[in-house]
Amino acid sequence: MAKIKSVKFKLNEFQYFRPFHITNSVSYGSQNIEVAIELENGVVGYGEASPSFRVNGEKVAAVIGLEGTVNEMIVGMDVRNYRQILDVTDKLFAAPSIKAAVQYGVLDAFSEEIGVPVYQILGGAKTKIETDQTMSIGTLEERINEARSIVEKGHNVIKIKVGENLQEDIQALIAISQITRGCKYIVDANMGYTPKQAVKFVTEIYRAGVDISVFEQPVGMHDIDGLKYVRWNSPFPIAADESAKSKYDVMKLIKEEAVDYINIKLMKSGISDALAIVEMVKAANLKLMIGCMAESSLGINQSVHFALGTGAFDFHDLDSPLMLKEGTFRGKYKVDVPYYYV
Ligand SMILES: [Mg+2]
Repeated sequence: MAKIKSVKFKLNEFQYFRPFHITNSVSYGSQNIEVAIELENGVVGYGEASPSFRVNGEKVAAVIGLEGTVNEMIVGMDVRNYRQILDVTDKLFAAPSIKAAVQYGVLDAFSEEIGVPVYQILGGAKTKIETDQTMSIGTLEERINEARSIVEKGHNVIKIKVGENLQEDIQALIAISQITRGCKYIVDANMGYTPKQAVKFVTEIYRAGVDISVFEQPVGMHDIDGLKYVRWNSPFPIAADESAKSKYDVMKLIKEEAVDYINIKLMKSGISDALAIVEMVKAANLKLMIGCMAESSLGINQSVHFALGTGAFDFHDLDSPLMLKEGTFRGKYKVDVPYYYV
């Protein structure tokens, strides 16, 4: 028996080393919620929520108020029967980052209880993954300098934020490709383009001889027709991020043949929907990447173990702890940039 005794929430604040600029948003730091799941025998499991108002409509002040509700939901349940707890906590769909942290905290407590790491509980498919590093939107000079420093740190996959100015983005991408030969590019517009602008962007990039591995969320989150239009007019694979939160979103994207890739983030889906999405996307012969919000090492630990356990992802965009100032590293994984491993 490994019954849950209590669930505690704690607010932690982190600052970015540098302001993080994406379409219509500049972020200086993050307020994350640490979730501690204590069992009756004293074992504690940890998770972390990184709420996103932009993507999920979550405000920290609102979701941190769910501590009592979560206690009512799962105290007394046995983490050895964790599927039962995942099913009960699926009701937290309006606070998906909390759902993720609670569900992972349960897995972490189970892991500590039986002495088996979470990635092995989830399948143990891999022991090592490679993360990309993300570049903010900026002036051409800032973008070139950032690209250069990312390559110098040893990264082979660069995530390039675009979406505020089509001509500047095209110019920047071509310039970056010239000084980062051999790298792969994930380009993310964070909903910043119209469908026609997005097609113009990929057409010009293709004509310039630059290859993009994944083009993420070119258009608005609810514009499924727009995503589909871009997909069928783009030489590069198209990914849904903001459009793909729950398994039901993904079912619709698959039915509509709207994208080539799904970007799973635990902060959008929790563990339970993320597990479902992995199998749905595989069955549909589409591809997967995994991303993050502004998790610290405690929170990205969740995605590292999920990615290692399922082994399902072509690309890992799990760089937030590399961008946040953090006193103590709290991941149950090791870092050798650009690799995370156990
Ligand atoms: Mg994205």
